[in-house]
Amino acid sequence: MTVTGRHYATGERVRLEFAHGRIASISPATAKGTGVEPASNSEPWIAPGFVDLQINGFGGHEFNEPQITPQRVREIVLAQDQFGVTSFCPTTTTQSLDRLTHAMTAIGDACERWPEIASRVPGIHLEGPFICAEDGPRGAHPREHCRPPDWDAFRRLNDASGGRIRIVTIAADYDQTPEFTRRAVDAGIRIAIGHTGASSDQIVRTVDAGASFSTHLGNAAHPRIRRHPNYIWDQLADDRLGATLIVDGHHLPASVVKCFLRVKSIARCALISDITGMAGMPPGNYSGTPLGNIEVLDDGRLVVAGQRELLAGASLPIGHGVANVMKFAGLDLRDAVQMASLNAQRLAGFPVQPLEAGTLADLVLLHHDCEPGATSPLRIVATYKRGERTWDASRTIRHSAAD
Ligand SMILES: [Zn+2]
Repeated sequence: MTVTGRHYATGERVRLEFAHGRIASISPATAKGTGVEPASNSEPWIAPGFVDLQINGFGGHEFNEPQITPQRVREIVLAQDQFGVTSFCPTTTTQSLDRLTHAMTAIGDACERWPEIASRVPGIHLEGPFICAEDGPRGAHPREHCRPPDWDAFRRLNDASGGRIRIVTIAADYDQTPEFTRRAVDAGIRIAIGHTGASSDQIVRTVDAGASFSTHLGNAAHPRIRRHPNYIWDQLADDRLGATLIVDGHHLPASVVKCFLRVKSIARCALISDITGMAGMPPGNYSGTPLGNIEVLDDGRLVVAGQRELLAGASLPIGHGVANVMKFAGLDLRDAVQMASLNAQRLAGFPVQPLEAGTLADLVLLHHDCEPGATSPLRIVATYKRGERTWDASRTIRHSAAD
């Protein structure tokens, strides 16, 4: 199979050949051997597929809802093809250990049963329950289940998942955090600091123990904090920490996104969507969701029902973040895409799959007006997973029914 389009980093017109799920070759696209054809603006960009380290659910279902099944996990996972996401971390938020164990079992079983699910799920992100219980840092996570890091509890969850937990977001606030971090890092698991209200010393101790990035830096914080020092400056200033950012236009103001990127550098930042199970639902009121009564607004924001300020999670897929960082921080398409793909792989410790011969043919074809500061949204044209077209905007591809 071959695909032709504009290389997302160079702008050159290229032809990619796939073989056995990998990119066999990338060559300048020529017309009947007469030389390189000029790239046309009507042709899509070819880029590495998006890798989203934080997806909580989709289409009305959360990974940690009580009735989650492997079949439901499969539906949530395959729904991400339409957004150019070729792999991602199913993410569980704070719940009781029994509920989380059930979620881990369902995700693990789905990966065991269906190779197309296993290939899209390089690891699970456990976000909570080891987070700060204070209002603000805990975000929308239920207070009664927030608890200090506990290695035995973690082992139970990881065993239930078949050893698939690859990222744990924890608060640096607890005395147990450094020891837990050391054990997790020794076991090959990435520790991210998030949902924290920690002191400067606690953050340093957690990074010393091996924490490698901050989860959605600038969110899940007290509404008012001391001007300095505080846990946002402390994480920003520590060059050992990368960061994931929610750049949906609602969670962080444009000026904050720009400042974070300048301080951390693009290379150490990754975009996440952090979409909840309410993503993909039409505007309206929804009662009895895992996060309580939620309203989906016309502009896509998810808020706690009855008001307009308190966000109840994100609903826009990662491609919106790609378009937004170009607009907010003046990035070009190359840097914006890398924040949604290669940088995420690097932060999570997954094999990095640049757009070059020999790597997995996990690709997204997209349209975007690539002038810095462009306001037009990014549009997904097609998604390829291991060389197979899994999404095509011009026709709906239906996955074969699960057994
Ligand atoms: Zn969170």
